[in-house]
Amino acid sequence: MTAHIPAHGFDSLAVHAGQAFDPTTGAVIPPVHFSTTYAQDGIGGLRQGYEYGRSGNPTRTALETQLAAIEGGKHGLSFSSGLAAEDALLRSVLGPGDEVLLGNDVYGGTYRLIARILGPWGVGLRIVDMSDLDAVAAALEERPARILWVETPSNPLLRITDIAGLARLGKDAGALVVVDNTFASPALQQPLGLGADVVVHSATKYLGGHSDVVGGALVIDDDKVAEGARFLQFAAGAVSGPLDAWLTTRGIKTLGIRMQRHSENATAVADFLEGHDRVARVYYPGLKSHPGHELAARQMSAFGGIVSLALADGKAARKFAESTRLFQLAESLGGVESLVNHPDEMTHASVRGTELAVPEEVVRLSVGIESVDDLLADLERALDKL
Ligand SMILES: *Cc1c(COP(=O)(O)O)cnc(C)c1O
Repeated sequence: MTAHIPAHGFDSLAVHAGQAFDPTTGAVIPPVHFSTTYAQDGIGGLRQGYEYGRSGNPTRTALETQLAAIEGGKHGLSFSSGLAAEDALLRSVLGPGDEVLLGNDVYGGTYRLIARILGPWGVGLRIVDMSDLDAVAAALEERPARILWVETPSNPLLRITDIAGLARLGKDAGALVVVDNTFASPALQQPLGLGADVVVHSATKYLGGHSDVVGGALVIDDDKVAEGARFLQFAAGAVSGPLDAWLTTRGIKTLGIRMQRHSENATAVADFLEGHDRVARVYYPGLKSHPGHELAARQMSAFGGIVSLALADGKAARKFAESTRLFQLAESLGGVESLVNHPDEMTHASVRGTELAVPEEVVRLSVGIESVDDLLADLERALDKL
């Protein structure tokens, strides 16, 4: 489906993959297909395989082609949310008695899905620090796992895991290595090229990029794994709607330049915070002080738009999060606008008291693409209030 594109660069693929002009009218932007059903040329005579909206839709296909192209994978699948994508993958791969080895700071909803929904159906869960490959190897030695699930950079402490190293461990152990690439996006990091088996996205974040669509994605090289996830999606139904798919496609066209600007602004924010005396610690892989800096510099082309900071205590964190004005107090991340979040009480409230709990003095910033001087001034004003 990308054969018509005489280019292979990331930004060219983001703009053109799956986006061939409409052959009947010449419309440069392909139409959004809302039809739920497709006329047949005699029974079973489908045009281009389309039959019914849950099994396939041309606007969704366009997005799936684009997703596969930008992650450098064979199969792209688009879902109604990031968690719907995770659910389809997990249920199509796992059976009762299988175990998932999960990073110790993955997205809280991922933990909740496995622990509380799949757990009662017989799926086991072990938590390990994925950035420590010796700990992963030891865990695999103790007992096999069907899936190794990692987020890098992780949320919200921006830990960095060696994807190629983890992929080698996974291969040796016969486990599927799944990378949630939501934070870096394929503009900055391409896990399949580093040996991972599956990439997961909350397209709600950087792929959509404008905080106006909820979506999820899987990108998979292996035909059988992809077929299993696609069949589960078809059978259980968590497809993305045509307008959601179209909004995501539109967002992806500017992903490269957005990630570049997010990274530049986040670097300036991290530098500013690191030099401020009310800030106890800054978590940003672009900082030399970050323990994963060198690894991040190897496997990412820039360091992304998320910066976390620790203040003196939980009270100061709460006050700071409620004091910024340009950084709006809200869950989620990855949009063009800057957001601030107190994980302990907001995004990570569901993992309070578990091994995935986030220290209460930590605040997470999703640094947008606004003018950087305005962002720094807003942070300075909020810090002055502490
Ligand atoms: C938001 C998020 C998810 C879940 O995606 P939804 O689109 O909200 O279902 C999964 N992983 C990460 C890293 C996220 O930030």
